[in-house]
Amino acid sequence: MPGRDTDLQHLGEDREGAPGAIAPPVYRSSLFSFPDSKSLGEVLRGEKDGYVYTRVANPTIDVLEKKVAALEETSGAIAFSSGMAAVSAVLLSFLRAGDHLVLSASAYGPTLSMARDMIEPLGVEVSLVAPSELVALEDHLRENTRLVYLESPASLTFELTDLAAVAEVARAHSIPTVVDNSWATPIYQKPARFGIDLSLHSGTKYLSGHSDLLLGMVAGTAELIDRVRKTAVLLGGCVSPDDAFLAVRGLRTLSLRMQRHQDNGLFLSHKLMDHPRVLEVLHPANPFFPGHGIYRSHFSGASGLFSFLLDGEPERFCDALELFLLGVSWGGFESLALPSSILPEVARGKGVRLDLPRNLVRLSAGLEDPEDLWEDLQRGFAALD
Ligand SMILES: *Cc1c(COP(=O)(O)O)cnc(C)c1O
Repeated sequence: MPGRDTDLQHLGEDREGAPGAIAPPVYRSSLFSFPDSKSLGEVLRGEKDGYVYTRVANPTIDVLEKKVAALEETSGAIAFSSGMAAVSAVLLSFLRAGDHLVLSASAYGPTLSMARDMIEPLGVEVSLVAPSELVALEDHLRENTRLVYLESPASLTFELTDLAAVAEVARAHSIPTVVDNSWATPIYQKPARFGIDLSLHSGTKYLSGHSDLLLGMVAGTAELIDRVRKTAVLLGGCVSPDDAFLAVRGLRTLSLRMQRHQDNGLFLSHKLMDHPRVLEVLHPANPFFPGHGIYRSHFSGASGLFSFLLDGEPERFCDALELFLLGVSWGGFESLALPSSILPEVARGKGVRLDLPRNLVRLSAGLEDPEDLWEDLQRGFAALD
């Protein structure tokens, strides 16, 4: 079996079909034609493999899906037009009126909003459970529980979930599990190894990595992915072939980028831990961070996204930064800062999760020189005096 980085360069690419082309062709075509009615009919009825319509399948999107499945060590994967398109397709694939969903209370804000404002009104019961309580999953299951939705770590506060413990209980009850794995990417956490059924990504973040497209991905067994694909085809949130091409290009350097994001994030977090104006560094690799044991058992590394609690005014700190750009999102080449105090209620998960500390600053360490990033943060501290 070729190694991970070899697969990222070569797996899934049909070079014979594309006269030796090194980069995969972008099949910018909404449909595919056939020589006769008989052959079109066979593919439409599923009796033969083939491409009919890009909302269902497209050769450029196939390359992306094959690479992500290989990275996640699963037999299937499906791409979406955004992370939220992936979230909605997964929820609607498994939940019907009368069913029950267990959802991590520290999940991404719009995921919580979707569960509360769109899924619950369809007649689905939703239980929000704090990550620390998810180890006792048994207490939260009901006879009608049909899905357990996790996110580890959470993307503002970084609470970790013991995927192995949750999967063991869920499997004993034949309840499918899904985890939002956007933070670690499959380079640093492979949920399938812990018995989790589906790994979901905002590929907008690290997988594509260049802040120039939106993408969602879900990986799992071919059987479960088929089930998600049936829903996805009806919802219609497929990725464009152009964005699939860019995502494949981003994936080629994923492990190199992740290494640098990790190094820069750890460098800054260590400096911050020693700074008198920093009260706490919320980083899963910080040995003093609650849940660090889960980090050690589940992750082989850390990405560049973490937060810290500031002894001072976070907006004044962020406004003094010159290299760190102010913005939402993360996972691109550029370093970003975000003070939690300015977030709208939906992003803060208002009413559905613990309120965020107002002195929290989230940093996404990009690919710049680490010393330049630290120098910039010192501008922020200087502005506090
Ligand atoms: C950004 C994000 C999403 C949503 O992805 P989009 O591509 O923006 O739709 C989901 N989960 C997490 C953790 C995210 O950060």
